[in-house]
Amino acid sequence: MARSLADVEYNYHHICEEIARAAESVGKTADDITFLAATKTVDAPTINHAILLGLRYIGENRVQELLSKYGEYDLEHASLQFIGHLQTNKVRQIVGKVDLIQSVDSVKLAQEISRCSIKRNTETGILLEVNIGREENKSGVLPEQLEELLYQIRDIPAIKVRGLMAIPPICENAQENRKFFDKMRNIFLDIDSKNIDNISMDILSMGMSDDYAEAIRCGATMVRVGSALFGARYYPA
Ligand SMILES: *Cc1c(COP(=O)(O)O)cnc(C)c1O
Repeated sequence: MARSLADVEYNYHHICEEIARAAESVGKTADDITFLAATKTVDAPTINHAILLGLRYIGENRVQELLSKYGEYDLEHASLQFIGHLQTNKVRQIVGKVDLIQSVDSVKLAQEISRCSIKRNTETGILLEVNIGREENKSGVLPEQLEELLYQIRDIPAIKVRGLMAIPPICENAQENRKFFDKMRNIFLDIDSKNIDNISMDILSMGMSDDYAEAIRCGATMVRVGSALFGARYYPA
């Protein structure tokens, strides 16, 4: 099923307007918010069309899919990030290709990103993923384990912690949703106020197609939007 580029264009402008509106409602501007497109299942020409419209950040969540599209992305005009669950044995395949790995939740993973970054003579930005809904089947570190992880990671070379990421549980209403976003914002501000060496809290990545405006109102600095931009995802049968 082909996606219409006209739809993507309409959606892109609509999302930019919604981001600006939400940002302004909390005294920020659209420039304070990073609009990252979650591009899983979307073909490279469609992604590149969005980049042509002004999109500057794209995120993949599967290593294999990222590698298969890698040669086609217009990376002269956009930053490629990794947003999915990452297995340690796949780290070397993406280090050097992505600007930020958003889903780090263990020392072991951070160490492997470091090892591969040193080998490639580069530094890799990372976010720590927080399992804010305490869901058993989800990746991410539990809130009370975050600080310890930060202290274990801060001296690891060739990686740079730039903030936090969360995928809250699917909620029935905006109020429920807000609870998780507020918790994340409080954790983010708390860590930031501790001024831990080599740790910066510049990015709070939360909010997806259904709730990105709410996330921005709750303090997100980056939203990850997929289906609201590209339409429903079609997985091959
Ligand atoms: C797919 C995905 C998104 C975007 O989801 P939508 O609901 O389609 O906006 C955001 N974050 C991650 C980690 C994803 O895998």
